[in-house]
Amino acid sequence: MCGDIEMGVGFRITMSDFEYESLLDRARDKIPTEISERARWTLPDPEILIEGNQTIIRNFSELISKMDRDPNHVYQFLLNELGTSGTRESARVMFKGRIPPKRIRGKIVNYVKSFILCNQCDSPDTHFVKEERTTLMKCQACGATRPIRL
Ligand SMILES: [Zn+2]
Repeated sequence: MCGDIEMGVGFRITMSDFEYESLLDRARDKIPTEISERARWTLPDPEILIEGNQTIIRNFSELISKMDRDPNHVYQFLLNELGTSGTRESARVMFKGRIPPKRIRGKIVNYVKSFILCNQCDSPDTHFVKEERTTLMKCQACGATRPIRL
């Protein structure tokens, strides 16, 4: 845990027209105060840059460290959702094509909903448990499990 990351003003403005922040706020609201460490969970601003004919998330590794998920899983998810190919380096990812940052942020929200937030209590305090051939997402806050497709 490296504490809260302040969201920049620009981010707050650009994000307000879709649900990124409200999603995270909602998650924070519902988490019991006992697990306040995770209750402060926020994602850093995705730093998205369009350069020539490619789109770069400059702080991908920073996002991943907060998400606590397999970087390759997040990367493959984004490629599939965006319908493009790309390159993953240690700290950043690059996608082919000029992709609107808003679209990428939307996909990150989808990932958070599908693979991080508990669908029972909205806690982000979840992890994957392998059972036989299926993978379950287990919530540390309320104990709920649900099968997920990786
Ligand atoms: Zn839960």
